[in-house]
Amino acid sequence: MIKKYLLAPGPTPVPESVLLAMAQPIFHHRTPQFEALFAETAKSLQGLFKTAQDVLILASSGTGAMEASVVNTTSPGDRVLVVNGGKFGERWGKIAAAYGLVVDEIKVEWGTAVDPAAIAKVLKAHPDTKLVLMQGSETSTTVLHPVAEVARITRETGTLLVVDGITAVGVLDLPMDELGIDVLLTGSQKALMLPPGLAFVALSEKAWKAVGASKQPRFYLDLKRERDNQQKHTTAWTPAISLIFGLHEALRLMFAEGLDNVFARHDRLARATRAGAEALGLTLVAPTAPSPATTGIYLPAGVPGKLVGYLRDQVGITFAGGQDQLKGRICRVAHLGYIGSFDIVTAMAALEMGLAKFGARLQLGKGVGAAQQILLEGMPAAPAA
Ligand SMILES: *Cc1c(COP(=O)(O)O)cnc(C)c1O
Repeated sequence: MIKKYLLAPGPTPVPESVLLAMAQPIFHHRTPQFEALFAETAKSLQGLFKTAQDVLILASSGTGAMEASVVNTTSPGDRVLVVNGGKFGERWGKIAAAYGLVVDEIKVEWGTAVDPAAIAKVLKAHPDTKLVLMQGSETSTTVLHPVAEVARITRETGTLLVVDGITAVGVLDLPMDELGIDVLLTGSQKALMLPPGLAFVALSEKAWKAVGASKQPRFYLDLKRERDNQQKHTTAWTPAISLIFGLHEALRLMFAEGLDNVFARHDRLARATRAGAEALGLTLVAPTAPSPATTGIYLPAGVPGKLVGYLRDQVGITFAGGQDQLKGRICRVAHLGYIGSFDIVTAMAALEMGLAKFGARLQLGKGVGAAQQILLEGMPAAPAA
């Protein structure tokens, strides 16, 4: 038997009670029963996004919410600014180009965060820029971008700040209204501890004004139509009913833990993972601005990228590898969603043992020990004698 551990940055493991909630018999969505569940769920989502705006629930993967953000707020020929610091930043550029937008791009060196001053400079040169499109956490390079600082810049302009928070919402505190984020979106299969298939998006007042002026073609992803329905606690189209059962339970779990505790847990697991890697003498992909969602670690010289496939297929530990220029060179250990201290102990142990099998010289237990030292912070004090 090979026991499996899913430690990739999406899809992530799903808690047992969420799986059970999704196993309940379907009931029809045009009913008071569903509307009550939907209303409660939508309210919790507002708490998660920290917004007074409606958080719209879409039956799509995260990219559907990215596309919805673009097609509902622009018209062909509009100018947008894309922060391209990895595969997901690159995706913003592709979506914008597909809808006939004029794309300015800030290329960010992989493994580093965008400099807000560079964004300010472009917006000064092109004050007609409609959107700044960025990631909160760039999952491909394991970087955390400075959303709060960028929001401070866009807030003073006519430009909307659109944040792909797919590995940020539910991982760290990103209070939409307080920061002044105009469009915030996420997906179900990352920090929300659900299977893939749902996406969530909320728009500021400023963004809803842009929706009114937008002339892009759209039908399924028409957010105005969606909002009109969701304000009546239903969806424009048939919702992914079972996933919404699961969502209701996943949000219950997050609020039962307490959002601040959820954020602290992610931060602790991330620090433990980084400490473990560094104790092994390994180099981090994003040392200066690491994401609390996932940690990128360079494989030591001589260890091939197939270590990741070996751990997945023969050992049962699924990490993610690298993409494009990082392909075969890194391993990404995820620590978002339904992940606890002992998943990180397992991850570090598996990484050490895998490296040892590939001939790397290291002292077994060194990474695990360094991680444990930090994970101790999250353990309750021993009861008094
Ligand atoms: C996973 C991810 C996406 C992709 O979402 P899909 O659900 O695959 O469409 C987009 N952005 C970021 C930052 C992600 O981590």
